[in-house]
Amino acid sequence: MSRLPRYDLLFEPIQIGPKVAKNRFFQVPHASGMTNANPRVRAAFRGTKAEGGWGVVSTGACSVHPSSDDSPFPFASLWDEADVRAHALMTDAVHEHGALAAVELWHGGAAAVNRTSRAVPLSPSGVPWMATHVGFMSSARPRVMDATDIKALIDWHAKAARRAERAGFDILYVYAGMGYLPYQFLLSDYNRRTDSYGGTVRNRVRLVAELIDAVREATGGRCAVALRVSMQELRARPSEVAPSEAHEVIGLLKDAPDLFDVKMDYSTTDCAPSRFADEGSHEPVIDFMKSVTDKPVVGVGRFTSPDTMVSMIRRGVLDLIGGARPSIADPFLPAKIEAGQIEDIRECIGCNMCISSWHDGVWVRCTQNPTAGEEWRRGWHPEIIRKDSAETALVVGGGPAGLEAALVLARRGMKVSLAEASDAFGGRLLWETRLPGLRQWFRVVDYRLGQLRKMPNVALFAQSALSAADVRAFGADHVVIATGARWTTNLCNDSEIPGDPLVAPRVYTPDDIAAGVTIEGPVAVYDFDNYYLGSAIAEDLARRGLRVTYVTTAGAAQAWGFMTNEQPLVHRAFAAAGIDYRTLEVVTGFDGETLQLKQIFSGEPRSFAARSVVIVGQRTGGSALYDALAETGELPSLALAGDANAPGAIAHAVYNGHLVARGLGANLPPPRRDAPFAPPELSMPEQDR
Ligand code: ADP
Ligand code: SF4
Repeated sequence: MSRLPRYDLLFEPIQIGPKVAKNRFFQVPHASGMTNANPRVRAAFRGTKAEGGWGVVSTGACSVHPSSDDSPFPFASLWDEADVRAHALMTDAVHEHGALAAVELWHGGAAAVNRTSRAVPLSPSGVPWMATHVGFMSSARPRVMDATDIKALIDWHAKAARRAERAGFDILYVYAGMGYLPYQFLLSDYNRRTDSYGGTVRNRVRLVAELIDAVREATGGRCAVALRVSMQELRARPSEVAPSEAHEVIGLLKDAPDLFDVKMDYSTTDCAPSRFADEGSHEPVIDFMKSVTDKPVVGVGRFTSPDTMVSMIRRGVLDLIGGARPSIADPFLPAKIEAGQIEDIRECIGCNMCISSWHDGVWVRCTQNPTAGEEWRRGWHPEIIRKDSAETALVVGGGPAGLEAALVLARRGMKVSLAEASDAFGGRLLWETRLPGLRQWFRVVDYRLGQLRKMPNVALFAQSALSAADVRAFGADHVVIATGARWTTNLCNDSEIPGDPLVAPRVYTPDDIAAGVTIEGPVAVYDFDNYYLGSAIAEDLARRGLRVTYVTTAGAAQAWGFMTNEQPLVHRAFAAAGIDYRTLEVVTGFDGETLQLKQIFSGEPRSFAARSVVIVGQRTGGSALYDALAETGELPSLALAGDANAPGAIAHAVYNGHLVARGLGANLPPPRRDAPFAPPELSMPEQDR
């Protein structure tokens, strides 16, 4: 097959200053959790995207100086020659496939609170950035930069640019977005200066213009220079001479960089979860760019549909299709469009597990792509698995873990049978994706089922609840049990340790709702799972017209949703749906009419009226089927996978299903351990005052 002519546009080369991108697929800078301490892991992760057809592949934020230190969050640096060596592995891996390599030169200013370097954070006017947000929280406040600091900042960028060129980068970014230092100069809320860098928009833009010039001059015009700029707040600010301050800023800079990369201001809106934002959600903020500048423009919007991509270009919104999450979920997205294999695209579901990895300080993990971050460590390729077996395999359970295990086993060449008790495949996602906003998560099932259905060595059996005797009689060489987990009605104590079940009328779990039980209102949803399901059920019940009170042991609704950028949006959704919420409370009892609670720290008793309670607390894994099979020890190769092995997020189930299936009957090498390059001398670059 080859690509459809209507997608030809996506494969046109694009001139970016002195460089040419081979097509319009641009993996914009995004956090990967991979730092200079894991140079081989990072090179393989980025190189795989180049192999998959992305015309440009970028780093994540790359600090130009120790006064921009994001630790303990993972960030890259270009401080010395060891860093040059570390990045050179990545640029080599990218160039090997004919793609351009871009580096996002970064100074965080007040948003980098320098926990390790202990350099005093720098800022235009001493205003901290989101000082109560965990990532930026600090008791240290930034100092106001003077003229010497501004000169130094420009010099650090120039030096980092020279190192970047030595490392092999083609495109060098100046980063004026997401609260980082050059952005703080652009926005009047953060820039209250009275010198030539503050006041009018022209003055506020000055630093960014000087940084662009410095980076260009430092590399003698040999590298392209990109400006990454956040537009959300600027677009909301009126201007006397233009439709908004965003128009004015871009108007003043319109000829300065070789490329504009435009984005939103906050992680929640920039990397918005699909529960609350559709594909292309940035467009209303960045749609004006092409009317102001002739330079190429790249932007993101979780684009996975080639038709949407073409439309963004034809309508004059973008010149290059930026991808961060879609490139993680499917590094081969461009190659698949080129080959006319649209139905093979592993579409990002917008769950933001990838972002949660960065918040955790670890390498990226992805719900859809279990090989992300494992390209070097385990040698996993997102598309190719070595055919190493012609044996037979039986997978029991057609949820995310079972589907992934079946796919991997089939790609290894095994003759695979997948048995699922229900009428349809999908496991927990069959019901969960009918909850508000979760529809796109069914892509986890669609992709895997689509692949399995095409394979001649796969047989799919729905309506097939298997017993231990059935499995034994089947006689497969390998058996994977992926039968999922069940929710309990257990309560928990003040330390959130699950205890005994709540025994009372009308006490339900998510499994009961999935089975279609009728809930009587007013209803309390008690959440000590603190991921998406409790809040999604609360929203669903409210939409059904029930009066809902959401109760959590945590300090905010869907507390873990901070990790996935969902938490603020959940609170907004609760307000819109009229859901009351109560935080820092544990449920102590229920008699069918009144819910008893206590404040988690003070122990103060509380209560409110409710007719039903839904407990989204603890799940238990384990499998009677697996236990029965393991007990006799007759099966030569038996494994437990997914939620049945350990209940977790979909990403964990998919990863575990993948890992188990790679290992069955195979002699896998142990994972490899990466290590940083030693610095040439054991001293840091010059520190500030
Ligand atoms: P996971 O996330 O680990 O894939 P799920 O709960 O989503 O777990 O899926 C487990 C699937 O296993 C469900 O679709 C369930 O119907 C199926 N299942 C459970 N027990 C059996 C059984 N004995 N035979 C076949 N399928 C089963
Ligand atoms: Fe997309 Fe979720 Fe994968 Fe992130 S983790 S790339 S949001 S599927």
